[in-house]
Amino acid sequence: MNKIKEYLKDKTFLKYLLYSIYIVITTGLLFTLLSHPSIRNFFGIIENKTFDIRQNILAPYKKVNKNIVILSVDEESYEYLLGKYGEWPISRNIYADIITYLEKQHPSVVAFDLMFVKSLKSSNNADNRLAQNIAKYDNVLTSINFDNQSYALRKPVDLPNVLKADIKNESDISLRNPYFTFSNCRAIIDQILYTTPNIGHINFLRDEDGIARNIPPFVIYKNDYYPHLALKTAIKYLEKTEGLKIDEFKINKKAELELGKRVIPLTYNGMTVLNWYGPSGINSQNTFEYIPLWKVEKSIYENAKLIPEDYFKNKIVYIGTSATSLFDLKSVPTDRIFPGVEIHTTFVNNILDNNFIKRVHPVYDIVISLLLTLFVGLIVIRSESTVISSLVAVLTAIIYAIFSTALMYYFNLWSGIVLQLTAILLVFIACYLAKYILKSRDLEYTYALATTDGLTELYNHRYFQEQMLQNIETGKRYEKHFSLIMIDIDFFKKFNDTYGHQSGDAVLRQVAQILKKNVRSSDIVCRYGGEEMAIILTNTDNESAIVTAEKICKAVSEHPLKLVNGNDVQVTISLGVSTYPQNGETTQDMIKYADDCLYIAKENGRNQVGKKN
Ligand code: GH3
Ligand code: MG
Ligand code: MG
Repeated sequence: MNKIKEYLKDKTFLKYLLYSIYIVITTGLLFTLLSHPSIRNFFGIIENKTFDIRQNILAPYKKVNKNIVILSVDEESYEYLLGKYGEWPISRNIYADIITYLEKQHPSVVAFDLMFVKSLKSSNNADNRLAQNIAKYDNVLTSINFDNQSYALRKPVDLPNVLKADIKNESDISLRNPYFTFSNCRAIIDQILYTTPNIGHINFLRDEDGIARNIPPFVIYKNDYYPHLALKTAIKYLEKTEGLKIDEFKINKKAELELGKRVIPLTYNGMTVLNWYGPSGINSQNTFEYIPLWKVEKSIYENAKLIPEDYFKNKIVYIGTSATSLFDLKSVPTDRIFPGVEIHTTFVNNILDNNFIKRVHPVYDIVISLLLTLFVGLIVIRSESTVISSLVAVLTAIIYAIFSTALMYYFNLWSGIVLQLTAILLVFIACYLAKYILKSRDLEYTYALATTDGLTELYNHRYFQEQMLQNIETGKRYEKHFSLIMIDIDFFKKFNDTYGHQSGDAVLRQVAQILKKNVRSSDIVCRYGGEEMAIILTNTDNESAIVTAEKICKAVSEHPLKLVNGNDVQVTISLGVSTYPQNGETTQDMIKYADDCLYIAKENGRNQVGKKN
């Protein structure tokens, strides 16, 4: 308790408390500013970029699931198949045969990231063969795609009930995101649509900057939810390998979509944040294994031994396009051109490895920002050295950036960086300003203290001397005159003896006020010493100075002054005037001349301005 009292007495504690409040208020204002939608949006875009950077730094340390392979229509396959069959898209007979070929090797799942949309009447037979093969194997999945096409152009189809997802949402997030609520559907052939429950959507969403970072696990079409193809693929795989059973999709209170012991954390608008494995497999060795479709085609129709035997056994085979000429490429955090099929396999892989990125709660971001700004702010205020405090601020920012990258690596957590670093920067600036404003106010105060007389609040003797020198200098340079009035209170010793020193002091203060009131604001009224006062009248000749002196003399003699007991009393003063340069060219000479005049005034009966003949 005593220690606290000591602390408070010391005032350092109080000072730092005030500083802390200042920092918190500045940060608070900052957050209010940042919460404006357009500013938040701007910061959101930059924050996304920091996510991309972190993902790229961490990509080399991640390993993809080797059970996922991409059977890809790449550039070579496209050229080869177009050349061989003379048409594009190729006949669905080939896809039917691919299913037969793959199923012989017992893959876990075969997912077509290809849309089998309505086709020519002449190829009905091929369509039927493909549909039969899809229906025959319960591990084959195909895709569907939603849009907002005009009803005038295309009538929205009714989708079978088996395709709809039953969702039990216990969280406070809303899945009714307008960005993935659709009014129309790109219909696939009826033979497939009505014979298999294994159809998933392949819609995706770009952020404002055109980069795809998230996937909606569900989209809404005609008020029903439809799950993503990758989600269905992963569930199918887990059904077969781990006996997972999903009757309804449960989103728990923590906004996670539960899949047995795995969870998919969802953002406030019901999206996933994918965890990326680096640039696409076309350019990098780090991600999924690609088998070009032409190798499978040659294995089927030419019995070529291009793929190891049983290569597809127990694997998830994701069939899609990666050829640049087929326009299924998107930009993602790790690459500017990235095949849609690999985005979806990334989704599958994230589910299998329980490896999604989770955006931390906004409250955490705000608390961290507050702590960082408090730390940096106090360092700035405490530290004497600009170099050290700016170094600390920069280091804090760097360490935090590293910390948040580590958080993503070890815990899959995405904590904000932009908000934190902006807060550090702005508080750094704000504290610097505060520090220097306070310092300059301190200086002003010290200066005032050094030039003022404590009793009368007039300028003190030292200031008087300075100003005399300065006026003489200016007078010399510009050939200008100025005057000095010396003032002495009459019979003040007696006054003190009669009324006491305290009343004497009170009267001194009141006389000082009368003097101030009766001169121009440019004139300098000083306490010379004791009960003697001096006024420097800038740019004033002798005649005018004497007029002023007489005015002052009259004002003091007529003004009733208060004693400490409240009674009124009257005092008089005697004055002497000297003018630069005619009565003296140094301070000493000018004071002497004015003093001589003052003496004459005393001699002549006081309460007057003394003059030499
Ligand atoms: P004269 O008319 O000749 O000036 O008579 P005087 O009594 O005023 O004589 P003098 O100027 O020599 O006396 C100065 C006196 O003023 C001495 C001191 O008692 C009083 N005095 C000086 N400084 C202060 C002060 O700060 N407060 C008070 N109360 N009295 C002061
Ligand atoms: Mg005196
Ligand atoms: Mg006197």
